[in-house]
Amino acid sequence: MPSYKAPVDDTLFLLNDVLNIQRFGNLEGFADASPDLTGQILGEAGKLCEEVLAPLNASGDANGCKRHPDGSVTTPAGFKSAFEAYAGGGWIGLSAPPEYGGQGLPYSLTMVMSEFASSANMAFAMYPGLTQGALAALLTHGSPEQKKLYAPPMIEGRWTGTMNLTEPQCGTDLGLLTTKAVPRGDGAYAITGQKIFISAGEHDLSENIIHLVLARLEGAPAGVKGISLFIVPKVLVNADGSLGQRNGVSCGSIEEKMGIHGNATCVMNYDGATGYLIGEANRGLNAMFVMMNEARLGVAMQGLAQSEVAYQNALAYAKERLQGRALTGPKYPEKKADPIIVHPDVRRMLLEIKAFNEAARALALSAALDSDIAHRSGDPAARQAADDRLGLLTPVLKGMLTDVGFENAVKAQQVFGGHGYIREWGMEQFVRDARIAMIYEGANGIQALDLVGRKLPREGGRAIMAFFKEGAELLGGHSANEAMKPFVAPAQAALADLQKASMWLMQNAMAKPDNAGAASYDYMHLLGRVALALMWVKIAAAALEKQVREPETAALMEAKLTTARFYMERMLPETSLRLARIVSGADTMMSLAPEMF
Ligand SMILES: Cc1cc2nc3c(=O)[nH]c(=O)nc-3n(C[C@H](O)[C@H](O)[C@H](O)COP(=O)(O)OP(=O)(O)OC[C@H]3O[C@@H](n4cnc5c(N)ncnc54)[C@H](O)[C@@H]3O)c2cc1C
Repeated sequence: MPSYKAPVDDTLFLLNDVLNIQRFGNLEGFADASPDLTGQILGEAGKLCEEVLAPLNASGDANGCKRHPDGSVTTPAGFKSAFEAYAGGGWIGLSAPPEYGGQGLPYSLTMVMSEFASSANMAFAMYPGLTQGALAALLTHGSPEQKKLYAPPMIEGRWTGTMNLTEPQCGTDLGLLTTKAVPRGDGAYAITGQKIFISAGEHDLSENIIHLVLARLEGAPAGVKGISLFIVPKVLVNADGSLGQRNGVSCGSIEEKMGIHGNATCVMNYDGATGYLIGEANRGLNAMFVMMNEARLGVAMQGLAQSEVAYQNALAYAKERLQGRALTGPKYPEKKADPIIVHPDVRRMLLEIKAFNEAARALALSAALDSDIAHRSGDPAARQAADDRLGLLTPVLKGMLTDVGFENAVKAQQVFGGHGYIREWGMEQFVRDARIAMIYEGANGIQALDLVGRKLPREGGRAIMAFFKEGAELLGGHSANEAMKPFVAPAQAALADLQKASMWLMQNAMAKPDNAGAASYDYMHLLGRVALALMWVKIAAAALEKQVREPETAALMEAKLTTARFYMERMLPETSLRLARIVSGADTMMSLAPEMF
């Protein structure tokens, strides 16, 4: 049976020592998040995830969700009471506005909880996660009446949320969407169509489900410019907030799938269901993007979360499993063999995961802080800079954390040898669960296109130019420090690779869009590896300072410095490989005719 321990101390080190969250005391909600209170909150979050959610992970996977002939769906045993504990603890509304019953705390803390909960039980964590995403869209684009009616029960967890984009003929290309919305003359719309793959579309955890549904108004322009967003409650809501009649929406079936069995992935049928427009007609995608951006960061955390829990179990196994002797002679002569952690190749696997996880957590928290600044700062320049960074890094986080999260789950499984392939050890579940994060919420190839096609050129490249400037300033600030040399020099070389790749795109992608498409995936990973290197530079600087300031942390901080060196020596050189691929262009790739494949 696998186990999970929430990385509370590492997260607090990142928030307090590396990212200096105290700097943001002037932002709304941050004054309440003192280091002590943050420590307590993360401690409680960890406890809930370790004691309530993690024990349901394997059984939820084995038993899955069940649809009954009346269309109702039951979640695995234990999910309902776990959801009550999650909602009752106020975790759904941790950073939601207090006027609707939320606690108004930094969004960064919600991201931490999202990692912990997804490590403990990814399928479960999607129910509150989707509710938070739906809330974000509602609070940004809903009318005052809609917010008042729907937000408080969603924050309480009495009602949950979903996002309905996908249809059988319409996945990535939302312009193909056909679900119809017809005005009924009373301000509401009749919604008709079929949505597929809807996560948490039907279940028994809450008394109502608020579906956010993309549909096309009659006569709307073709393509993505004719899509609107609607609230379609499972049970209609009276003006006083009480529940009325059942709406015309039902779950036609649930998918048999590779992983996340505890989450109901539903075919949803809308048969003239009553829906209410959110925001402006034909601007639905704009409104849905609020939910999609939030969900992309949530999915990025799923990648990191599976990598983390798989690592923890692989590490424990590597310390116990006795096979072979160290190349330099027995390390534990009293035992029949040495534990496999003595072998360089096992250390390679463990360190590759560890060096990724710690920097990826820092990068995700840094992006969450940018989201806080973008939404809460009173300084327009700070808001814009944070929004630029967040926009640039959201596709990178989604694509890189989920790709590498899956690779790391496989690597951790490899540490177990054959036992990793056997269900009782739980490693194969992490691999199966991690796989979907690369696909949904915009497949990773689409994240790469979003980065290269939209985020890079936006405002004349303002975000990437700021990224270069901030990176150069960070590295320049540490370059005179001898102890920082092993980190600064490789990071400078990697940043130069990224600059060359960006320049090549500027010169070669405009005239030939295939060059941009062919380069996009490598560019996303190149930018991601550089961003992680900059995080390791920050972590190393904080570790060197902390070693002196708090000598009792010296060994722990030394381990951070060693891990940072490993990243620089053995993982960061990947940037030159990515650059070489990028500048090879699209000609060869595009020259093979489909019938010649
Ligand atoms: C378990 C699960 C849960 C899901 N939950 C939800 C949910 O809650 N709500 C919801 O609305 N949807 C949900 N989805 C749907 C999911 O978001 C889509 O599957 C995903 O967006 C991809 O769409 P598709 O499957 O139709 O693939 P397609 O769009 O057919 O894409 C197939 C492949 O082609 C690539 N591709 C497509 N177009 C391009 C292009 N222009 N350039 C380059 N490459 C391209 C894609 O990257 C992909 O690799 C879920 C799916 C699953 C499996």
